Parts: sequence; structure tokens; C-alpha cells
Amino acid sequence: MATETCCTVEFRVQTSRKCQVVDITPLVEEAVKKSGVTDGLCAVYVAHTTAAVTVNENADPNIGEDILEALERLIPEGIWRHDQVDDNAAAHIKAALLGPSETIPVRNGKLQLGTWQAVLLFEFDGPRDRQLLVTLR
Ligand code: ZN
Repeated sequence: MATETCCTVEFRVQTSRKCQVVDITPLVEEAVKKSGVTDGLCAVYVAHTTAAVTVNENADPNIGEDILEALERLIPEGIWRHDQVDDNAAAHIKAALLGPSETIPVRNGKLQLGTWQAVLLFEFDGPRDRQLLVTLR
């Protein structure tokens, strides 16, 4: 579902697991089409502190699972200061490492993703309803 306001398109994505990768490339491509922007920049942003957006491969979905596992190994749960507040510090740290946004060039009305690149939403504290903003200029 998408609602359009000028050149910003909002999407909501319902995740289904605690940690999960969702390929949002089709949603972003739809936003580019709707915007009418042919040459410019596409910013994809997730408005949350325990989710992230990154560009990487999804042709082999193992890569997303490997990134989740690598972050899991690097960042143990339950040992951080914020865990005493709401017990999800590891999710915040993982999200901070990947970051909330990506900017992708648009040329001739198409996202300039490489052959193996996809736009991926990373969920670290799901399942949740996530708000995504795609801004085109
Ligand atoms: Zn928290």
C-alpha cells in the first residue's frame, strides 16, 4: 500500500519475525515510477531505531541470512545498558551499524542498481509494522 504526497511515497511493511530481511526493491521501483522523476536521486528511509535499510544482493537470499547471523555473532543480547530500559539494545546497535537509509541514482526513470543489488529492509526487533519513506528529487 502506498500513499503519495508530492515526491515522497510512504510504504508500510509488516514484518513477521524478530530478525528478518525483506526485499523492498519492487516497492521502491513503484515509487520511482509514480514520482515521474527521470533523472535524480531516490532516498529510501526507514523511520525507526531498530530497523535498517541497505543495498546488497538478494539473488541468493542466503546473503541476507548471513548478514543477520554475522550481526547476531558480533552483538550479543542482554548485556547492554539499554537492556535495562526495554531489553532490545542489540537491535538498536545492529540498526545503527547498517543505518536507516540509502540513496540510489535514478537515470532514464530507472533505479541504477547493479545486476546483483537489491534494496533490503532489515528488521531487528519484529514482528512490527514499519514505516518507509521514499523521496525522489
Ligand atoms: Zn529500545
